[in-house]
Amino acid sequence: MDCDMDLTQYFGCNTFNDAVMRERLPLPAYQALKNSIENGDELSGEVADVVANAMKQWAMERGATHFTHWFQPMTGVTAEKHDSFLAVGDNGRVIMEFSGKELIKGEPDASSFPSGGLRATFEARGYTAWDCTSPAFLREDSSGVTLCIPTAFCSYTGEALDKKTPLLRSMEAINREAQRVLKLFGKNVKHVDVCVGSEQEYFLIDREKYLKRDDLIFSGRTLFGAKPPKGQEMDDHYFGTIKERVSSFMHELNEELWKLGIYAKTQHNEAAPAQHELAPIYSTVNIETDHNQLVMECMKKIAARHGLACLLHEKPFAGVNGSGKHNNWSLVTNEGENLMKPGKKPHENLQFLLFLAAVIKACDEHAELIRMSASCPGNDYRLGGAEAPPAIFSVFIGEQLEDIFAQLLANGKATSSKERELLKIGVSSIPYIKKDVSDRNRTSPFAFTGNKFELRMVGSSMSIADANTVLNSIVADSLREIANELEGSVDFNDKVVKVICKIINDHKRVIFDGNGYSKEWVEEAARRGLPNKESYVDAIEALTYDKTVSMFERQGVFTRPELEARSEIAYEIYSKTVNIEARTMIEMASRKFIPAAVKHAKILADTINSVSSALDESEADNMREMLGEALEHIGEARRALKTLDDNVNTASRLDGEEKRARYFRDYVVKAMKNLREPVDQLETLVDAELWPVPTYGEMIFEI
Ligand code: ADP
Ligand code: MG
Repeated sequence: MDCDMDLTQYFGCNTFNDAVMRERLPLPAYQALKNSIENGDELSGEVADVVANAMKQWAMERGATHFTHWFQPMTGVTAEKHDSFLAVGDNGRVIMEFSGKELIKGEPDASSFPSGGLRATFEARGYTAWDCTSPAFLREDSSGVTLCIPTAFCSYTGEALDKKTPLLRSMEAINREAQRVLKLFGKNVKHVDVCVGSEQEYFLIDREKYLKRDDLIFSGRTLFGAKPPKGQEMDDHYFGTIKERVSSFMHELNEELWKLGIYAKTQHNEAAPAQHELAPIYSTVNIETDHNQLVMECMKKIAARHGLACLLHEKPFAGVNGSGKHNNWSLVTNEGENLMKPGKKPHENLQFLLFLAAVIKACDEHAELIRMSASCPGNDYRLGGAEAPPAIFSVFIGEQLEDIFAQLLANGKATSSKERELLKIGVSSIPYIKKDVSDRNRTSPFAFTGNKFELRMVGSSMSIADANTVLNSIVADSLREIANELEGSVDFNDKVVKVICKIINDHKRVIFDGNGYSKEWVEEAARRGLPNKESYVDAIEALTYDKTVSMFERQGVFTRPELEARSEIAYEIYSKTVNIEARTMIEMASRKFIPAAVKHAKILADTINSVSSALDESEADNMREMLGEALEHIGEARRALKTLDDNVNTASRLDGEEKRARYFRDYVVKAMKNLREPVDQLETLVDAELWPVPTYGEMIFEI
């Protein structure tokens, strides 16, 4: 596709979007598909055939030869199986075919995707089903053009085996419950959508250096590496000018994303050297979830074209900031009303205050579940590290809203909202600007930012599906309780105020506007009785708490077996991740670092021997000290290597996913740290020429 064209011309040109459907489908088929997209009406076989045919024509005109059902198994990455349009027609003629059936349903033999015991390998049937609410798209690369059809993935008996199915279910739940509450305010809307914008952080480093580090290749993060002389202490990278090589990557990335109909909008350098961020304009949550997967995929692919490697891991380098994903979340009706928008006089906006209260209640009741939904093994190195939100979940709502709630609690009514002030800069030529009603709180895990909530805990490599499935479901359940309470009330406004006051009273402990990075907050949170799940492994149990299961079952999002399966998978993912890291460390230490250090020691020893006659006592001592130090770290590394190896072997013999994961966390991770220390020490002693891998300084500053 020629991209010298105007952006408005080529935006979305690789998607089978509304304009294409309108142009290429006969009107009745177009309308039937629209009804299916907007209202969930079932699509008939005939219409599916018509749509499939139009899709095939469109894709083939753009060079596609294959199609794939694109899905999101519980691995957190996407999966696909390619089929060509090729078919054999009458008398052996080759024809290009794509039927409605092939569009709607696929059957990958998917027995090796994680199912957490939901499906034994002998019952390997899994189905992918077309999600018509997320547009099909074309993927172009050097291997050709493929038509990708976003699908949900489930088992023969209908259990969700992916991340999309529960997300779609949760969207139905919140749509249903939010409409009930809106009805009480006299509003009959067609649907309430969840809108999400996810800001993506990532690192870019030189590809050749990347390829020299097994740790980056196998585990996505550095498992060794001494601190460079310069870190991020100068704050000169954040929002700094973008290097040319990086900006040419960003340029191509934007073009590719725009063609896919993704509204990539903002880009800037992040806090750590070599760290960057991309933010799109928000979309409906399931589309945004698909888009974010595509953003991550495109980042990796395009980085390679520029001789770069894109690191999406939460903590690729110890000692500098890690990466996260800010998940901006709001509720918007089909008429465009944002239910999270306070308006000019929030104290009079009972509907807004009620929805806000619903979110607060949901957050307090299911804090651990939210923490779990934003967790992955890599995020353990970030959450609570005074660079990312703490692992303790709390909500920031800002001074103005706190004040309104305080008025309501004290007087049963709120009569004023704190006004926005003028910002005085002290230079007469600079115009006054109005400040936001409250400052930002960068340390809060879940902050209200004017017309949306921003969940800042999600790890950079994760799918945003889980976090949003949880947010949607818990808020839906909270709205359900509120609707039950309010339906049929006589003095509606009075009752609404009472409900809000009760919620705030019961759940105010989760509201916190202070410094989430401080030690005092950990103590204060404990006094308030807020849960503090320090690690991912600790958080997993929240998936199967009774209150979690009943909430999800009430909302029709997960069944108990589905949750139990997901919890098994979560433990399994943790063990597998740490196992790979540990084995990579063992390999790198025994075959790279220790041999390099031994060579270095030999050079020292040889030197001492050959020049000893020329050295006086103190010079000889000095040389021997250097050698001694190197040998000491080598010995330490060897012992740590042995312990790590033993621990990994013990772990692999343990039965039970949870037990194994806990052992990995308690023993293997510790042994990894003990191996890293002497190796990092050696890195600072050993001749740079001998050091077998690029250093931190070389990776994050020389790009
Ligand atoms: P920030 O407040 O973090 O500086 P922005 O206001 O630009 O940045 O928004 C960050 C992200 O939030 C963007 O992806 C943006 O599209 C998204 N966003 C803005 N408004 C909403 C909304 N009402 N609902 C969901 N996401 C939103
Ligand atoms: Mg943000």
